[in-house]
Amino acid sequence: MAMTIARKPKPASKKPAKPAGKSSKSVKRVYFFGNGKAEGNAGMKDLLGGKGANLADMTLVPLPVPPGFTITTDTCGDYNDAGQRLPKGLMEEVRANIAKVEKATGKRFGDAANPLLVAARSGAKFSMPGMMDTVLNIGLNDKAVEGLAKLSNNERFAYDSYRRLINMFGDTVMGVDHHHFEHELSAVKRAKGVELDTQLDVDGLKEVVDRYKAVYEKHVGSPFPNDPYEQLEAAIEAVFKSWMGDRAIKYRELNDIRGVRGTAVNVQAMVFGNMGDDSATGVAFTRDPSTGENVFYGEFLVNAQGEDVVAGIRTPLECKTEMGKWSQRSWKELQNVKSVLEKRYKDVQDFEFTIEKGKLYMLQTRNGKRTAQAAVRIAVEMVKERLIDEKTAILRVEPASLDQLLHPTFDPSADKQVIATGLPASPGAAVGKIAFTAEEAEQRVAAGEKIILVRRETEPADIGGMHVSEGILTSTGGMTSHAAVVARGMGTPCVAGAGAVEIDAANKTCRINGKTYGPNDWLSLDGGKTPAGEVYEGQVPTVEATLSGAFAQIMKWADKYRTLKVRTNADTPHDSEVARGFGAEGIGLTRTEHMFFDPQRIHNMREMILATDTAGRERALAKLLPYQKEDFVGIFTAMKGLPVTIRLLDPPLHEFLPHGEKDQRALAESLGMSFEQVKNRVQQLHEANPMLGHRGDRLAITYPEILIMQVRAIIEAAVECKKAGIKVLPEIMIPLAGTKQELDFLKKHTVETANAVFKETKTRVDYMYGTMIEVPRAAITADELAETAEFFSFGTNDLTQMTFGYSRDDAGSFLPEYVKKEILERDPFQSLDTGGVGKLVGMAVKLGRSTKSNLKCGICGEHGGDPRSVEFCHQVGLDYVSCSPFRVPIARLAAAHAAIKQNGAKPSKKK
Ligand code: PEP
Ligand code: MG
Repeated sequence: MAMTIARKPKPASKKPAKPAGKSSKSVKRVYFFGNGKAEGNAGMKDLLGGKGANLADMTLVPLPVPPGFTITTDTCGDYNDAGQRLPKGLMEEVRANIAKVEKATGKRFGDAANPLLVAARSGAKFSMPGMMDTVLNIGLNDKAVEGLAKLSNNERFAYDSYRRLINMFGDTVMGVDHHHFEHELSAVKRAKGVELDTQLDVDGLKEVVDRYKAVYEKHVGSPFPNDPYEQLEAAIEAVFKSWMGDRAIKYRELNDIRGVRGTAVNVQAMVFGNMGDDSATGVAFTRDPSTGENVFYGEFLVNAQGEDVVAGIRTPLECKTEMGKWSQRSWKELQNVKSVLEKRYKDVQDFEFTIEKGKLYMLQTRNGKRTAQAAVRIAVEMVKERLIDEKTAILRVEPASLDQLLHPTFDPSADKQVIATGLPASPGAAVGKIAFTAEEAEQRVAAGEKIILVRRETEPADIGGMHVSEGILTSTGGMTSHAAVVARGMGTPCVAGAGAVEIDAANKTCRINGKTYGPNDWLSLDGGKTPAGEVYEGQVPTVEATLSGAFAQIMKWADKYRTLKVRTNADTPHDSEVARGFGAEGIGLTRTEHMFFDPQRIHNMREMILATDTAGRERALAKLLPYQKEDFVGIFTAMKGLPVTIRLLDPPLHEFLPHGEKDQRALAESLGMSFEQVKNRVQQLHEANPMLGHRGDRLAITYPEILIMQVRAIIEAAVECKKAGIKVLPEIMIPLAGTKQELDFLKKHTVETANAVFKETKTRVDYMYGTMIEVPRAAITADELAETAEFFSFGTNDLTQMTFGYSRDDAGSFLPEYVKKEILERDPFQSLDTGGVGKLVGMAVKLGRSTKSNLKCGICGEHGGDPRSVEFCHQVGLDYVSCSPFRVPIARLAAAHAAIKQNGAKPSKKK
């Protein structure tokens, strides 16, 4: 039913186009299903799309599926490749299959006495809810409507169906704006003195049909087609075209759907949920897609067609509480369907059904989209129910989606003023200022604001604004409304159908409980609160997430199967503790420069940079030493004996100096220097290409005293911890090295300093000396570097920068275009470029281990928390990945995915 949210992309051409492509003699383009037999099956999702493959499969079960056929996804690809022309012979194949549907149903297409009506629905390999077109009631015309009236013994129903076809066909296929039809409908309702569509009598509906035809002819330039095949052909084309519509393209972009040629078209005999009070239509999930609870989760509307549920005109009823009261038989049948579907597909199903005069029909089933919270719970419970095994459970949870569970929730002790409630459509806490259109949301987020998108109901065109918003609030619509489905898919918190929110989008205000809110007001919302999602005034404080319950279980299983270790990038004891809580097995990168920005420290740092000789620098460094030592003691203590990699100073020195005159004057005064001296030194440190300049180990080569201070702080801290009974494993890491000679030079200072501390303290600690691999030369000569280094850590941020020659700081101005134009598949700073940068990584690991077979290798660039990159790291044999604390669980799960995908991993012995 979500499919029917679709609205037009481009109108179909009015003249039938010339056929294109291969003839249907050589390629089978149409697959029939019906009466317990099917030419397709569940394994044919590439060719038949998800919906088509499952319709075939449900027919085979057998579940009650109205007969029909699927036109292949390749046909859509051929159609669009040929400049939007239908392949030769396609319509003959379609006619032959319509004949089979006629036989299966005993009805005839376009017949005056016993007309067959069909629906044409899109269905790609990956579900794209609401992004493409659907046309229902195809086959109705002036004659068939009479037949339908007699057949159903319900003239009202027949004309209602007819007016729906003209509207949908005009709007979706021919691009006539929906509001032209709405306008006429309202006029008739006014004239008849009724409020609801359902209150219109037969004469009223006949008048609506006449008016709709006039609207159609006026805007299309020709009368509404009476020939059912003409209707069907145009509808098929419209579905194919909608694959290339802006919305569908954007959806594929956002969801990283690539390499798919097109959508299938499912043409299926219509069944009617609007045949009277013994008919209904609905959507259901076999478990709650928000929480994962194992309950029948669905909504239905009596005497309605699918689009009524999503259009928000009538509020659907909850199956669990209401259906039994309406029809015990249907309710029992549906509960049975739930269990049949789960046993067959071994996953949560999202299905659509229609009950026509008491008889249940299944219109679709697919794996249900769910929140991360639900995915985790469902996976764990399905293992307990013996539906799936642990490995399958692990693979069922998308690593990146865990992000949703790791985000803060509202502080339970915070003062919250609930101003409205609605359906808890997508869990999570969101705080932002109000925007009333998706476009406004996009603009304001780009300008740095946090936004809550407040809409009556969202529509597919809103997808961009929904994507960037912190949270979504709608005033109408149910749990299967567009806003709810899309928000859950995106992991964006959403409260839907909050009726108390009266929106005046034109004036950019909304009224809630008599109070008016505008674009500058803050709202907070909790989309996971049960039984109702809540909306609060202002900015409610949030608290951090913890791992527990099903989440902890899935992580435990992940740890059992992964072989790659996961460390964290952390610069403070607090971050280290958070990361340990998330399961970090060490620190892969402490960026020491971050420790120098505290007011007192930055002063000493500046004093060091401005000193004119070694002695002056040493004096300033001596003041920094106790701070550094304290930092390291804190981190070692927090990590309780796990390895901690500390990187020595990396950024160019000018980053620590003030650039404005006022600050420079103040600094000069506090150091007893002249303003000119400070200004000159700043100018002197200016570099044309600082990223390729005096930074990384080049600083320590020119000023070894900096390295000496840092090494001393590390070793003194380690000794102090050891004396206090805390186990420590420091790993001293050199940034940006490109030659073995650099490493040799710096190792000598490192060893001498460490030995001096051991002698002074009469205590020894084990430590390691290693290097980052960040410049291509280091990767190329890794065998030489490994003679000196005891470990490698791939700094893939810099390695990507230097391999591509893309400045990390400037690539934002062109990389999005590269991705959009498919010159690059994805941004290489976010996901490791396995074909180039990755080759260097793989090569360096091999070369390094050819020198030192036990060389420890890890990655600490941003890629360490990107699931795709983690998989690559597993494949090239890294020992660990290191990422920010909140990505640690994501990396643990991604590492398990990689291990399971590689060889169906047995539980790892390493753990
Ligand atoms: C890297 O370059 O990948 C890295 C981790 O170092 P930084 O981001 O600090 O340059
Ligand atoms: Mg770097």
